[in-house]
Amino acid sequence: MCGIIGVSSYDECATELFLGMNALQHRGQDAAGIVTFSDHFRLVKGNGLVSQVFTAENLAGLPGRCGLGHVRYATQGTLEPSMAQPFYMNYPFGIAMVHNGNVDNSAELARWLHDEQYRLIETTNDLELILYAFASELERKPLPTIGIEDVFDAVGAVQRRVQGAFAVIALIAGKGLLGFRDPYGIRPLFLGRRSEAGRTAWAFASETSCLEMLGYTIDRELAAGEAVMIDTAGQVHTRPAAVTRKHAFCVFEYIYFAREDSTFNGILVADARETMGRRLAARFRERGLMPDVVIDVPASASFFAQGLAEELGVPYRQGFVKNKYVGRSFIKPTQAERSRTVRLKLNPIQSVVQGKKVAVVDDSIVRGTTSKRIVELLRKAGATAIYCVSAAPPLRFPCVYGIDMSVKTELIAGMMSLEEVAAFIGADELIYQTLEDVEACFPGTGLCAACFSGTYPTGISPESIDRIERERLAAKKAG
Ligand code: AMP
Repeated sequence: MCGIIGVSSYDECATELFLGMNALQHRGQDAAGIVTFSDHFRLVKGNGLVSQVFTAENLAGLPGRCGLGHVRYATQGTLEPSMAQPFYMNYPFGIAMVHNGNVDNSAELARWLHDEQYRLIETTNDLELILYAFASELERKPLPTIGIEDVFDAVGAVQRRVQGAFAVIALIAGKGLLGFRDPYGIRPLFLGRRSEAGRTAWAFASETSCLEMLGYTIDRELAAGEAVMIDTAGQVHTRPAAVTRKHAFCVFEYIYFAREDSTFNGILVADARETMGRRLAARFRERGLMPDVVIDVPASASFFAQGLAEELGVPYRQGFVKNKYVGRSFIKPTQAERSRTVRLKLNPIQSVVQGKKVAVVDDSIVRGTTSKRIVELLRKAGATAIYCVSAAPPLRFPCVYGIDMSVKTELIAGMMSLEEVAAFIGADELIYQTLEDVEACFPGTGLCAACFSGTYPTGISPESIDRIERERLAAKKAG
């Protein structure tokens, strides 16, 4: 998963991109990059957090009123700094690009680009494929007189050619800022507008909270497959999807990935989580369980836990203190390191749990590392019974659309029965959300829930799923 932002402003934009990327940092902490344009492109990118990659000095070296920013969470490709986004190329016109998502048919695209478009593919980053595919399609147009409709045609051709999940922002030198989504609308993209003293700035970003924080009002959530271009005069042009597909927005954005103050499809993430939490109460009643207290695994599960506690009529408390300065446990490469990081990251508050039946809610259980450690910690702190709750249904199928869960064998619920998972974790009870309950929280919104159901909206073949898994394992090994 990644976070993307693109700005077309009346002022220098590097600092704004930097601030916006900070507001998207939860979407990726592996690498960060900014490209700006003024006469030519200037690029700074590297591995690490936004605050580690950028300094006042290197931001000052990024002049221009339009630019792109990216925070990377590698779900594909290695962690070499050259894999960080943005990428740019100088023909035609000069195109810089960032994306969020995963391409399903990368092997086929790479072959087409190499054998028929005579392009050298230099990285294993999907963005290179999307960028070259777009450039190839644009090149077919009458370049001296090229217009917005030509650009949109090129987007349509890319949407037909590239399969998978992608939200893209491109900066076409001297032409404008372009944003588009895949035809299924799996990954999010928003357009915001900010007016000041008769001047207007436009920005695309992955999340509404990022745009709002920068003072933009949300102009629109790009529809599935929609393309929007802001030309150099600040005019907005739009084109609906070139190919229409059933909307399949990634449900994991609501469950784990996005910030609680972001809205997708008109539904605030915080509200969605609270509603999902409430629905979990039925699972407790079914089993005749009543905890004394509901706590959460900080920080993404608090709204689920609050909803559950309110519905059950028991107190919600903060049962753990989280050390914000230790990296995400999920991302650590070895299991031993991951377990140690969970311990360093979370410490129970004894008075909240001692002598109590504790329901502990996490947004999801992936490998089970966090839950297992949590149960050990709570037992040591004196909890008399521990009910482990996953606000997500069992994660059984790999994600091929940009969430780092593309390896089947790393999904505990895909490898073990739920009884075995409960035994592995050591909880007295293990409670999962049902997929029906998740779907009931989003009436009228088409969702991608492939990680729970195994139904992949793009119809990806089992061979491609296996290939993505092999590539991911190889990239993880390479580091
Ligand atoms: P695990 O310990 O492997 O079961 O992972 C579960 C924890 O990782 C939960 O606390 C989640 O908040 C978090 N998590 C879930 N999905 C992801 C993901 N795709 N990337 C990073 N962290 C995740």
